[in-house]
Amino acid sequence: MNRLFLDFASTTPVHPEVISVIESAFKNLPGNPSSIHDDGRKARFAIEDARERVASLLGKQPSEIVFTASATESINTVLKSWFFHHLPAKSTYYSSPAEHHATLLTLEYLESKGVEFHQIQPDQSGIVHPFQPEQGSLVSLMAVNNELGSILPSATIQSVLNSGASLHIDAVQALGKIDLSTFMDADFLSFSGHKFYGPRGVGLLVVKSGSDLEPLLHGGAQERNRRSGTEPTALILGFAKALELALATQETTFNQALKLNNYLRKNLKSIVPEVQFNSQDDGSPFILNFTLSSDPKEQIDSEAVIMGLDAKGISVSSGSACSSGSWEPSHVLKAIGKSDYEAQTTLRVSFGHGITETDLDRFTETLDGILKKMKLALTLL
Ligand code: PLP
Repeated sequence: MNRLFLDFASTTPVHPEVISVIESAFKNLPGNPSSIHDDGRKARFAIEDARERVASLLGKQPSEIVFTASATESINTVLKSWFFHHLPAKSTYYSSPAEHHATLLTLEYLESKGVEFHQIQPDQSGIVHPFQPEQGSLVSLMAVNNELGSILPSATIQSVLNSGASLHIDAVQALGKIDLSTFMDADFLSFSGHKFYGPRGVGLLVVKSGSDLEPLLHGGAQERNRRSGTEPTALILGFAKALELALATQETTFNQALKLNNYLRKNLKSIVPEVQFNSQDDGSPFILNFTLSSDPKEQIDSEAVIMGLDAKGISVSSGSACSSGSWEPSHVLKAIGKSDYEAQTTLRVSFGHGITETDLDRFTETLDGILKKMKLALTLL
């Protein structure tokens, strides 16, 4: 039986048209873009053309575009750059405990080096409401929460910008999925190629004109001395192609995800009437996070559920992550007030290209079978 991939928030398969672009670049653009000979100039021309297309699609200037290797690198660059730029004075940061680890663990690291790090508590849906950060501080927040799908309200963005703080938006789960316009006034934005059918190994950092950025990587002064390292021509071209495709089909994919999300909610209610949806109705429809049980006596374990689904060819994500060999409840679910048991019975399904209602029926029936077996096993204990 075909595998059913329902984990598009973790990564997406590379679009066939993107693969063609990458393949052609690997074949036809072998030069180092910094070389002055013809091979180098051709690669440079292709990269600058990709930069212009990406900038224009995002409503930015080409000089504001910095290609990186991942969103993790983009985020680290912004947060650590701020620290270096403000030395020897102490810098102040604000973020939320429901952020991606690329942000949270970088800020915890910087805190160990002496910065001030304020964590703004999100509500039960993972939403950070308007607050007043200190003038001159840096605020880092996600546009769309990668576990819950909750969307950062524009009122929060306005409250930060009106306070005279600088703003970094981790827009990884938003690009190609929801309208980005409310986020684009941020001073810094981070994106990742592999979340919208582009290749892994390429990310993007958008730096608003006039914002200071200290490079994380020193060396050959590529990317206007903001990110040294020989540019991966093929991956950058693949990123630009994936972005063009994603934005051209955004409305259709959004509506399709919304339909699938609503369909799965109904399906789940029919097999687990007490299911709790942790994703809001008006969040990103691409992510549906739900808790199967709040009663520890039911002894449901999402790891066992995920392995059962996997054995039947279905890939989804759970509410816990393996850390140092043991399963830890997701920090996001903890941040929104879920108990360890609830986190342990939580699953995240994420939608993408090619998924149909029939696929969701297969998922629901398989899940139902697994839960029934678990219940039966419990009665036999
Ligand atoms: N931020 C968010 C919201 C994400 O979902 C991810 C990836 O899971 C990242 C950052 C990190 O992206 P990358 O895999 O490009 O480092």
